[in-house]
Amino acid sequence: MDLIPSLRVAVWSACDLSCEYCHREGDVHPGRHLADRELLMLLRTALPLGLRKIKLTGGEPLLRPGLPALVRELATLGADLSLTTNGLELATQAGDLAAAGLRRVNISLDTLRPERFRELTGEDRLAGVLEGVRAAAKAGLALELDAVVLRGVNEEETVDLIAFAGGLGARIQFIELSQVGISSTYYRRRHRDLESLERWLRERGEALEDATRRFDRPRFRVNGVTVSLCRFVRYAEPGARRRGLRLAADGRVYGFRYGEPPRADLGAALRGGAGQARLTELWARCVRIGQEVSAAR
Ligand code: SF4
Repeated sequence: MDLIPSLRVAVWSACDLSCEYCHREGDVHPGRHLADRELLMLLRTALPLGLRKIKLTGGEPLLRPGLPALVRELATLGADLSLTTNGLELATQAGDLAAAGLRRVNISLDTLRPERFRELTGEDRLAGVLEGVRAAAKAGLALELDAVVLRGVNEEETVDLIAFAGGLGARIQFIELSQVGISSTYYRRRHRDLESLERWLRERGEALEDATRRFDRPRFRVNGVTVSLCRFVRYAEPGARRRGLRLAADGRVYGFRYGEPPRADLGAALRGGAGQARLTELWARCVRIGQEVSAAR
């Protein structure tokens, strides 16, 4: 049964950067973090529903104490395992994570300019991120850089960022600013539609075969680099991402759209003594809610 093909799993709710557009995966009031054994139990109970892809997120996942040990356990589940990070801790952890069974990482990188990085994140730490990116490449992790495109901030850096990704053998994804979790004033000031970037990529690059099937994330090959676009406006289309689920660090389960209420609190169910069958039933209920929401739109 392929009801939960992929799951974003927040393993740590705090972050050591303060990006001005951050919505912390919509998880503004996190409760107690799940212990490793609780997290593993919850994910095991999702496997019968077809869970094939797990992406570890935060906050900043690398701030979770003992993450490589957790990754080693998660790798035994047999799902495709990846992680999204701000990159700061990769310089010290990339080797251990690769040895533990991690294969891919997404690293946030909106700019290659130190002053701009400081303004965007509140920290003068671009050099640390770049060190982490290089350590991840050296450890053999497959890399994808994630850059949020912001009007009046980094629009003109797309070519430089593509070249930087190419130099590392990495992919790059340009992300449209999401309206969720930020003020409408900030959104109006910084939102940049990616239409013209998509046009530029179509003219300069080669649309990859599956660009039309992956309607929400068209992909291109430009100067030997795979470039994808993540356009949130497209998620408003009926059916878009209806099957995506997110597990928050405290065990609550959400749909993919930030800002919606939790569909279930699996952490509380686990602490209340729920067994494997009951937890699988709760996962299935989360899927059903998504199908109902989707059908109602
Ligand atoms: S790195 Fe990610 S989680 Fe941390 S503040 Fe920036 S956007 Fe938020």
